[in-house]
Amino acid sequence: MPEAPELEAIREFLEREVVRARVTRFETLRPSVIRPLAGDPGELVGRRVESVERVGKFLTMRFAGGRALVVNPMLTGSFQRRRPSSRVYKKTCFVMSLDDGQQIRYLDGRQMGRVYYVRSDRVGDVPQMESLGPDVLGEDTFEGFLERIRPFRGEIKGVLTRGRVISGIGNAYADEILFEAAVYPFRKRTALSREELGRVYEAARGVTREAVEQVRVRMGEDGRLGRRDFMRVHNRGGEPCPRCGSSITQIAANQRITSYCRRCQPGMLIGS
Ligand SMILES: [Zn+2]
Repeated sequence: MPEAPELEAIREFLEREVVRARVTRFETLRPSVIRPLAGDPGELVGRRVESVERVGKFLTMRFAGGRALVVNPMLTGSFQRRRPSSRVYKKTCFVMSLDDGQQIRYLDGRQMGRVYYVRSDRVGDVPQMESLGPDVLGEDTFEGFLERIRPFRGEIKGVLTRGRVISGIGNAYADEILFEAAVYPFRKRTALSREELGRVYEAARGVTREAVEQVRVRMGEDGRLGRRDFMRVHNRGGEPCPRCGSSITQIAANQRITSYCRRCQPGMLIGS
């Protein structure tokens, strides 16, 4: 599931590949994924791509003439740059042909992601975008973070992944961030001291920034993402903790994996 580091690397890729190119054809292959809030996205033909932005897990491509595509890839959405002659996979949702002879294709195996075609000045109307907290790599202050986190009293991992306090963090990087901060993932936010919350805040930004670099160097020339083999605890249950050497604990709750080190991130499972 792409989170801020993957989407930031994809944003850089798209910025490099498509900005200033003109759309020569737009084909919708999976209409159920597209939300045409500003007419038919076929009218993108003839428009140039002006910018590619990201907030949290939303990527926004802006086009000349006040139109935008906002993509929320959810679990399995991905982008590819392809020659028109290359095979089109079944899970392709849209194909955007450009005047430089390439195509940008958006694929989504489970089709849980959404692509919104909107007016540029209505990007904020995209569902769930308005309630997002500042991007994990965006401008922020620790005092602002403390202020925003106050209403959320539940387990810190859940608070981080909901996207309201900071956006862009999902299940995998939340484990990495809490490991870095040495905070037990199931502790209640209300049980965390200001000092511990400070560590979480710093780790969120530091871990994400570092991960962007790791994702960037693993990305294929066509925009395909590489392996997340740089992760330190997530999905490494049973392996030695990189900090203390004891075995990493891994549990599945609510159909999500949580990995952490019992020694480096102490806490009780219940009542902590
Ligand atoms: Zn450890």
